[in-house]
Amino acid sequence: MIARTHDLAAITGLVIVVVAVSPLPPLHLATILVAVLANQLGGIAPDIDQPTAPFWRNLPVGGIFGRFIGKMLGGHRFLTHSLIGLVLMGFLAHLLLVFLQPIMPHVQIDYVWWAFIIGMVSHLIMDSFTKEGVPWLLPIPIKFGFPPLRKFRITTGKGIENFIVLPLITVVLVVVCAVYYPDLVDLVRHRVIE
Ligand SMILES: [Zn+2]
Repeated sequence: MIARTHDLAAITGLVIVVVAVSPLPPLHLATILVAVLANQLGGIAPDIDQPTAPFWRNLPVGGIFGRFIGKMLGGHRFLTHSLIGLVLMGFLAHLLLVFLQPIMPHVQIDYVWWAFIIGMVSHLIMDSFTKEGVPWLLPIPIKFGFPPLRKFRITTGKGIENFIVLPLITVVLVVVCAVYYPDLVDLVRHRVIE
């Protein structure tokens, strides 16, 4: 899937989880903002194994780094696209958040961490709908996909993704926001603290 689809899927996943577990405990505004950022980073993080990923394209010598890291991670759709990779990257993300905590005292890092993980999981779920599939159970070298028959799956970046998948996720996001609007208002009105 392309980055735009992953961005949208990540925020949709976050909103779904938020309304599912609401009411949330009191959150600092800083937590919410950083959580959204972490969610979007989580949504594209698995593709750091791809030299052409937007993450690397935006860095000055990102192409070279991207190729190097990509090789180290076993090439595209390998370690970072598996449950083991999810645990590893979740662990690293937690270390980073603990390290950054002193300079962002109002950020409740546990919620930020969950937002990152939700982004990553949404990435793996979305990639499962593509022809390549996802090696969920590495080191078992099988790529899983949905539907199981490869020919019914989506080709990344082609018409179906742009004209069906992307609008469909948008509709889900809009509908969830509309149906659970009172919960979202409650979150902003009563759960956000200074
Ligand atoms: Zn991917």
